[in-house]
Amino acid sequence: MDYKKLMQQYQQDIILSLIDLLKIPSVYDEKTSCKEMPFGKNVDKALKKVGELGEKLGFKVDYCDGYATELTMGEGKKLIGIFAHTDVVPAIGEWNHDPFDPIIKDEKLYARGSSDDKGPFVAALYATKALFDANLLKDTRVRIVVGGDEERGSKCLDYYFHKLHKEAPTYGFTPDSDFPLIYGEKGICDFNAKIRIDAPFIHKMNGGLVSNAVIDKFDVYMDNDKKFVKYLKEKNVNFIDNNDHLTFVGKAVHGSTPELGINAALIAFKELGDFYKINELSLLGNKLMDTSGKSFNGYSSSKLLKDTTYCLGIAKYENGVLDMTVNFRYNELVKPAEYISNFDEFFGTKSTHKEPSPYLLYDPNCDLVKTLLKAYREETDDNSEPLTTGGGTYAKHAPNTVAFGALFPGRISSMHEPNEFMPVEDIYLSAVIYAHAIKLLGDL
Ligand SMILES: [Zn+2]
Repeated sequence: MDYKKLMQQYQQDIILSLIDLLKIPSVYDEKTSCKEMPFGKNVDKALKKVGELGEKLGFKVDYCDGYATELTMGEGKKLIGIFAHTDVVPAIGEWNHDPFDPIIKDEKLYARGSSDDKGPFVAALYATKALFDANLLKDTRVRIVVGGDEERGSKCLDYYFHKLHKEAPTYGFTPDSDFPLIYGEKGICDFNAKIRIDAPFIHKMNGGLVSNAVIDKFDVYMDNDKKFVKYLKEKNVNFIDNNDHLTFVGKAVHGSTPELGINAALIAFKELGDFYKINELSLLGNKLMDTSGKSFNGYSSSKLLKDTTYCLGIAKYENGVLDMTVNFRYNELVKPAEYISNFDEFFGTKSTHKEPSPYLLYDPNCDLVKTLLKAYREETDDNSEPLTTGGGTYAKHAPNTVAFGALFPGRISSMHEPNEFMPVEDIYLSAVIYAHAIKLLGDL
């Protein structure tokens, strides 16, 4: 079967439908959130648009109480599930174009959501449509579930499976990560670590909004001290002197790869601690900078899910208490509570933690992984091995499901960044791979 040829006639529709969907600024909006629209007006608009599009293409549509839009085609016992999302992260930062007015430039489609995750969704949608149009799927249902809350913790899929008790797929994939395929995802546990620090000349400090990103700006309100400012300048520390407070500057990156960022709070801790001889701050600033945990008896590495990571995402100091939220990601050998208590022992903190999101690990030789990989390899001639990741996807929230595409190896990820794009040829090629993969899953 020539899947490239099969998908060719859908190329124009793919781009037109995708552009339509990308025009909706489907960012979570608390102000307009209500019972019927749990994620706000614009996410709801996008979920409705998905339903409209599905209906036009001949899918059965269920709006799932405003949490997700479910599109089903075909008959039969076997159910192939595809889990995509239509919510997007806010379009912050410097954009060269309106993030919600898509444009194609240099063969790339630019818009917030183009690669995460509207582009991959539309590719999978038309892949399904093409297979049924060509009568290639027998005794198989394909169900595309498009959620509205992936970026904020996947309440949509939790509602879908645990409140609505929807059917688990026989085989599933989520087109919301990397090719060739992700068969394992680290466990994630946020913990909150507090410590008393006696430094009355520091009035208050704060930085960071979410646990799962490295702190890029950290404000320190303290007694004016020219010597300290001079010391920072001599050391070429990146900071801004705002008269009433200092802002330390780092680099924000996603919490799954804190080693690629620069944590502004830790720079502040280190400099304050070293200069004023505040041991607790020195220790945090110098040791937590090593995001793997090697420097503080918090490290573990495994063959499959690899290294532990610690991302300090939120830090506040008030009334003598430093309060930190750490996003901890761990492999299959780690018991998170043990590692958090090691952390406390080392830094002198007292921590509490939320229910961890457990790690996910599929056998790389199971039917699902082998079949998806076969489709990818046959369409690309790329024999890259499947991957594991520190990021969490819908695969953790949907049974029998792994993350599969649509970022190709060697491509730069622009997800969550300004000027997000997806190369047009990648949109087409992912549709081809998805068509091939769904057909093979149908034949299993
Ligand atoms: Zn996504």
